[in-house]
Amino acid sequence: MTDARTLYPLGDQLGSVTLIQHAGDDKMIANAARVSFGGDSDAPLNARDEKLIRYLLRHQHGSPFEHNMITFKVICPIFVDRQWVRHRAGVSKNETSGRYVEQQERNFQPPSFRRQAPSNRQASVEDDGTLDQAEAARVWEEAWKAAYGAYQTLLGLSVTREQARGVLPQSLYTESYYTFNVRSLLHFIGLRDHDGAQYEMRLYARALAELAEPLFPVTFREWRALVAEQAH
Ligand SMILES: Cc1cc2nc3c(=O)[nH]c(=O)nc-3n(C[C@H](O)[C@H](O)[C@H](O)COP(=O)(O)OP(=O)(O)OC[C@H]3O[C@@H](n4cnc5c(N)ncnc54)[C@H](O)[C@@H]3O)c2cc1C
Repeated sequence: MTDARTLYPLGDQLGSVTLIQHAGDDKMIANAARVSFGGDSDAPLNARDEKLIRYLLRHQHGSPFEHNMITFKVICPIFVDRQWVRHRAGVSKNETSGRYVEQQERNFQPPSFRRQAPSNRQASVEDDGTLDQAEAARVWEEAWKAAYGAYQTLLGLSVTREQARGVLPQSLYTESYYTFNVRSLLHFIGLRDHDGAQYEMRLYARALAELAEPLFPVTFREWRALVAEQAH
């Protein structure tokens, strides 16, 4: 695990993203594009390669960005993972089995609660000071304790793990290996580190970007420039 590096997106030392391994670099992306006219080479990345990467991104030539891979170990609440698994193309996943192992007592407790957005029914807004934060935290904690206690009680009654887990909430942490290529990763980050995405999901998307960017610095730089231009 030479790549191993861990970030804690939710700040609770439970939720994490670890870079497990990677293959490929910016040069490989340029080479994959240049092979079409016999121009791939062992030479180090140069300014022409950088220009080519910029061109490929801007003209949606996606396939040269697929000849690489990045594997992350992701520990996230189930409600984050449910959004993650919607990404089907170029994303591989293996997840811990709640049938096989007993679920650990790992609960995401929000450090602060947000209000429902008044206009966008899918969105949230910061608390304007009128939300009883302490009471919300107490209710959340109590609900978790009751649910996890019920899980333990069911296991104590010899109920199978695959059924007992049914009482556990979406704040339960689950862990997976996720492997992306750069094309699918940029697509994921573009959709999930976005104003419209849930805040906790955005924090995970940013962690992926922080870990992957040093591996493909030119691609990320050019992609970010493109996204910024498109936003105006
Ligand atoms: C802010 C936000 C809110 C969302 N809210 C909801 C919601 O309320 N309910 C809900 O169900 N989902 C929701 N989603 C999920 C969303 O609809 C997509 O499923 C998810 O973002 C994955 O995007 P994708 O299909 O582009 O990605 P991928 O599945 O990774 O696909 C990548 C690309 O491959 C191509 N592709 C993949 N599969 C096919 C296919 N079968 N046919 C043709 N082309 C394909 C498409 O070009 C696609 O963009 C939400 C997503 C976001 C970002």
